[in-house]
Amino acid sequence: MTVLTGAGISTDSGIPDFRGPQGVWTKDPAAQRRVTIGDYTADPEVRRQAWIDRREHAAWTAEPNAGHAALAELERAGLLRALVTQNIDGLHVRAGNSAAKVVELHGTIHHAVCLACELRTPMREVLDRVEAGESDPPCPRCGGIQKADTISFGQSLRPAVLQAALDAAHDCDLFVAIGTSLTVQPAAGLCGEALAAGATLLIMNAEPTPYDGQAHRVVSEPIGSALPALVKELVDAAG
Ligand SMILES: [Zn+2]
Repeated sequence: MTVLTGAGISTDSGIPDFRGPQGVWTKDPAAQRRVTIGDYTADPEVRRQAWIDRREHAAWTAEPNAGHAALAELERAGLLRALVTQNIDGLHVRAGNSAAKVVELHGTIHHAVCLACELRTPMREVLDRVEAGESDPPCPRCGGIQKADTISFGQSLRPAVLQAALDAAHDCDLFVAIGTSLTVQPAAGLCGEALAAGATLLIMNAEPTPYDGQAHRVVSEPIGSALPALVKELVDAAG
């Protein structure tokens, strides 16, 4: 099976949902500018604040939760084709999923990337420079603007990453969408791709999604308890 996860799986780990109704971006338009590529490249003050955001990101102290652990168990049981995630926090790999199975659609906060020469640098190294007093550390190779290796508003997904997600959606008998509102493309469209390819669709999300009517099963109970129960059910059925 292929699994798609969104912000809802990481909220139990203390990572806020940035896009939801109570989201950081929704409530603070200035925060949204810091993740919009045009504003970011145009305004040094936006970048200065963005590096502060990155320093303070909850991902640095967050621990994987029971939902993440359940998906690692799914892989150990040999049932996971791919784990496509909209999250940038790296918690799926921390929980024990192999990096080869995880497709980070929106990139990762654990690396920085140069917008000019595409040099990737561990985020820790760049944050060390911020902490040492550089408000907007330039690329060590070419002097270009750096940002987190995440997809900002106004940026396209990496073609190879998107293709890996599409392949995983087309090549599964069960597609499970967890903790995602299924309103952000192209992630949401993976559900339609999987359905068109003949997969069964299961949605686990606290709020209704646009794909609920096409889903074979919708679970709205809290992910932290419902997902471990679902994985146990799937593992038992396979065993
Ligand atoms: Zn560079």
